[in-house]
Amino acid sequence: MKETHCKRILVTGGAGFLGSHLCEYLLNQGHDVLCVDNFYTGTKANIAALLGDPQFELMRHDVTFPLYVEVDEIYNLACPASPIHYQHDPVQTTKTSVHGAINMLGLAKRVKAKILQASTSEVYGDPEQHPQTENYWGHVNPIGLRSCYDEGKRCAETLFMDYHRQHKLRIKIARIFNTYGPRMHPNDGRVVSNFVMQALANEPLTIYGDGTQTRSFCYVNDLIEGLVRLMNSPDELTGPLNIGNPVECTMLELAETIIELCGSRSNIVCKPRPSDDPERRRPNIAAAESLLGWQPSTSLREGLMHTIEYFRLPRFAHRRAAAN
Ligand code: NAD
Ligand code: UDP
Ligand code: UDP
Repeated sequence: MKETHCKRILVTGGAGFLGSHLCEYLLNQGHDVLCVDNFYTGTKANIAALLGDPQFELMRHDVTFPLYVEVDEIYNLACPASPIHYQHDPVQTTKTSVHGAINMLGLAKRVKAKILQASTSEVYGDPEQHPQTENYWGHVNPIGLRSCYDEGKRCAETLFMDYHRQHKLRIKIARIFNTYGPRMHPNDGRVVSNFVMQALANEPLTIYGDGTQTRSFCYVNDLIEGLVRLMNSPDELTGPLNIGNPVECTMLELAETIIELCGSRSNIVCKPRPSDDPERRRPNIAAAESLLGWQPSTSLREGLMHTIEYFRLPRFAHRRAAAN
């Protein structure tokens, strides 16, 4: 349903996986959307369908540099999200989270915009509490290979809370748990895209470790609905709020489900486990359920079917052929 009041909304990282879905959702609600992206991991293909919309504007810009625009709301999503990408240039990853947050908060302060931060379940590190609730402070290695991402995001949360307390900014912090769906990068190393590409190519699915580690996967449409509800919630609700799907599965179960849904002849091989790879992860979403009236509604099988359909598109055929 379209909203009657048209807002000017900035989405940083808008050409990425989640950002492109968010831009589309906000345009469908009747808003003006400014997508800011430096195309580090995002692509023009992700937003190609939006370019003809007069309410959509695209700006190539790196959020580590100041940005002067006039907007009513900011969704700050800019940051590479997959371990391969964020570890490729770790210094830039921390700069994007920290300098990016400072610039977007400075912008929000000047124009009095409401601002939402895409934080992450990685702020909990390799958690000692399970499932994770928002009041858990986390178990993070500050000097490991994942730290550029985890600590960058933790510092961004600190900045958001301090701009809120010190400058009375209207802020929202969403702690996003593993999300999947169409427009995931086919080779960013994340487990769902890896497994689907491998299964479609009838190649072995690569499980890191013995496959007993768990994650809880949220379908992208559910996630976007949660983010928008948080943004539209009363000002007192700043979060951090967990947004994710609490249905937990092992990587072995995920691999078997994807092989079945793809009708694939693939088998499974085990590879070494990356360092600092969390053992279990599952959100407690009681707060989002009661405060936003939100919960995910797409089952893993249904979401995987949409994702598999996307990776069957002709534009990925050469990657599947190369893998054969
Ligand atoms: P993505 O890599 O597809 O998107 C990130 C976007 O940010 C890309 O378009 C990239 O080009 C852009 N970007 C990166 N650095 C930038 C910079 N310095 N200036 C401007 N643009 C820049 O990742 P995603 O999965 O869409 O994640 C979006 C956000 O959600 C990220 O902040 C990520 O940390 C967070 N998040 C995602 C997940 C998930 O499972 N997908 C989980 C937790 C948190
Ligand atoms: N900033 C921006 N756009 C604006 C206003 C500020 O990018 O419209 C950036 C600017 O780089 C600034 C940062 O946000 O350094 C933080 O702004 P703030 O007003 O909090 O602090 P200060 O200007 O004192 O550094
Ligand atoms: N993983 C795997 N095979 C792959 C890619 C990832 O077994 O081809 C595992 C990885 O070790 C981790 C889980 O899947 O335990 C989720 O990895 P991903 O990078 O998707 O997300 P994150 O670790 O950031 O939650």
